[in-house]
Amino acid sequence: CGIVGYTGPREAFPVVIKGLKRLEYRGYDSSGVALLNDGKLNVFKKKGKVSELEEHVIGKDLHSHIGIGHTRWATHGEPSDRNAHPHQSQSGALAMIHNGIIENYTQLKQELTSKGYTFNSDTDTEVLLNFIEDIKINNNCSVEEALRIALKRVVGAYCILLISADDPETIIAARKGSPLVIGIGKGEHFLASDASPIIEYTKEVVYVNDYEIAIVKPDELILKNLGNEKQTPFITRLDMEL
Ligand code: GLU
Repeated sequence: CGIVGYTGPREAFPVVIKGLKRLEYRGYDSSGVALLNDGKLNVFKKKGKVSELEEHVIGKDLHSHIGIGHTRWATHGEPSDRNAHPHQSQSGALAMIHNGIIENYTQLKQELTSKGYTFNSDTDTEVLLNFIEDIKINNNCSVEEALRIALKRVVGAYCILLISADDPETIIAARKGSPLVIGIGKGEHFLASDASPIIEYTKEVVYVNDYEIAIVKPDELILKNLGNEKQTPFITRLDMEL
């Protein structure tokens, strides 16, 4: 139901957790984060409140300069630790969060199951993630290109954030029907479902449009359409206060 992302010089975990708390008003049943340290994805997720996630991660390795976080409102699969986001792809190399519903997930899941894929959750999200990974492996292409190909087959609504173990700086985002705002800082970027987690850091934001993919690094934001054509980001100045 809510998503937050950060890439830049700060420690990502506190930024992401604070952002998730600002999105709590939207309602949710579980929460989670994915962080990346030294090429290793660390995923923590928990049914219940964000405060329960915070208790769960005490003593864990939270060091990271990139992070994605999610509050879930279950649509496919009961509220539980294993159905909470982020999900990891079968190889373990990708972590993804998703707001929305993949309507043709049953068909995609059947295709993947017949290829030998197994699933750790009951969500439509994990199906989409492995669908992306399968395209990446078969076409030997980048995550970005695999995502673009995958989204052409997807029916439904989504805002997704994706990070990859072999790319310590980049968050790839896409949306259709679910909102996504990107805050532009100095050498850092913030992503969220609405501006409330972002305004304390920057007033300059870009509202991503349907059928756009954003490739977000600390000092670079590239927007493309699903045809791989670059789009000029339209920067809005927020006049709202905290
Ligand atoms: N459909 C996804 C799920 O059930 C995402 C739900 C949401 O938007 O939070 O896990």
